[in-house]
Amino acid sequence: MSYTESLQRFKKNSEKICAINYTESILHWDASTGAPRKGAPMRGESLGFLAMLNHEITINNEAATDLDTLLKNIDRLTDIEAKMVKKAKKEFDKLSKIPKEELREFQMLINKAQHSWEEAREKNDFSIFSPDLKEIIGYLRKFADYREPENHPYNVFLDDYEEGMTTDKLDKFFETLRERIVPLLKKITQSKVVIEKNFLDFDYPLETQRAMAPELLNILGFDLSRGMLKESTHPFTMGTNIDDVRLTSRYDKNNVISGLLSVAHEGGHALYEQNIDRALFNTTLATGTSLGIHESQSRIYENNIFKSQEFINYYYPELLKNYPEQLKNISASDFYKAINRVEPSFIRVDADELTYSLHIMVRYETEIALINGTLEVDDLPEFWNKKMEEYLGIVPPNNSMGVLQDVHWSHGLFGYFPTYALGSAYAAQFAYYMNREINLYDSIIKGDMEKPLKWLNEKIHKHGSLLSPDEISISSCNELLNPEYFCKYLEDKYNKIYQI
Ligand SMILES: [Zn+2]
Repeated sequence: MSYTESLQRFKKNSEKICAINYTESILHWDASTGAPRKGAPMRGESLGFLAMLNHEITINNEAATDLDTLLKNIDRLTDIEAKMVKKAKKEFDKLSKIPKEELREFQMLINKAQHSWEEAREKNDFSIFSPDLKEIIGYLRKFADYREPENHPYNVFLDDYEEGMTTDKLDKFFETLRERIVPLLKKITQSKVVIEKNFLDFDYPLETQRAMAPELLNILGFDLSRGMLKESTHPFTMGTNIDDVRLTSRYDKNNVISGLLSVAHEGGHALYEQNIDRALFNTTLATGTSLGIHESQSRIYENNIFKSQEFINYYYPELLKNYPEQLKNISASDFYKAINRVEPSFIRVDADELTYSLHIMVRYETEIALINGTLEVDDLPEFWNKKMEEYLGIVPPNNSMGVLQDVHWSHGLFGYFPTYALGSAYAAQFAYYMNREINLYDSIIKGDMEKPLKWLNEKIHKHGSLLSPDEISISSCNELLNPEYFCKYLEDKYNKIYQI
């Protein structure tokens, strides 16, 4: 069979997959933003049908032959075609090497684990969730072995979220963070500087918060004519295609900052999806390249930009105009310090910018130990609490506020957490180079958000999944991920705030 025939069929199938993904996304969006609960069974059935359809198109003998033919002729393909083929081959291997029956059993286990995790967290009883967790880990080890028996199982999971990432690289990465952030936190907690933040929790009317959200998106450069902002319990972004990028936020009457930070964070994700090159439209490459790079785009807007003194100086008049009573006698500098206050806490999602990575380090070390079998599931709570004490200096009062707080493991997601810390580190590295090349902070203080957006478009966004994380790093910074930038950024920022 000629390779052109295979290519034609492969492309047609890729378009079908894009259409299925689009439909699935819209159903998920609908479910999270107000669709009637009673419609859930029919939505579930439709989603199941779509997943089956996707599987039928992806995994069959004809698709396997096409992939083989195309891989043999990879030099004759365009860059876009070649990358699409490699991505499809990876997906094919992932799905075809695990026996169908075991995948089905695993799916059922995951559904069950959702409930046992929820109940365990509610009742603060780890033993309700631990049997399912043991089984999940057993399946994951087996699946990794089917897929790449010669590789470390954790590397197999990592690569699903962050192409090219390995435990060797991550060990070194976290070692640097441990050596630099843990002592910095100690100095901060001993600092005599007192930062007032009570005013952040005054009464901030929801209507005002809701009105300010799209305006902030507009300032950041998001095009709302090709996107949509709604509300949901857990904020998220959904990039279905560059002309339809959706994001959500949530607003808390007694917290002026949480809604704004959600908008900045999800806005960063949304700007990435909205600015992918049109040449990738309707291909499987029209999405962010990895979770770590995706997270870098949300963190750069949330932390490096929004939470900078320069952005607050620019944006503060807007806040004062909307909340003159609440912010009476509070300066832009007071506000900046308040939103950057460091305080070790138990819950990851509420953590400040500095301690956040330490929460991730606890999870990384826990996951590695569980997968390696050096840690038994039954000993997990004790292990967790020890790590919390070692890195954050606090011990959770119970397991609901400790080892049971995150949903990820009940979904079978191992190797996912590290991408959050990678995102923060990439963000600091990109911000450093952006500042060196286009004076990022000079632009921000003037409210010129177009310049940074253009830099990110050019260096990161437009490539979609065409470039790997390493390739993005090299092409934009001329070096691979280097945690030095993140550590230096944190030290500079907090040494100044806490006068260390
Ligand atoms: Zn995010």
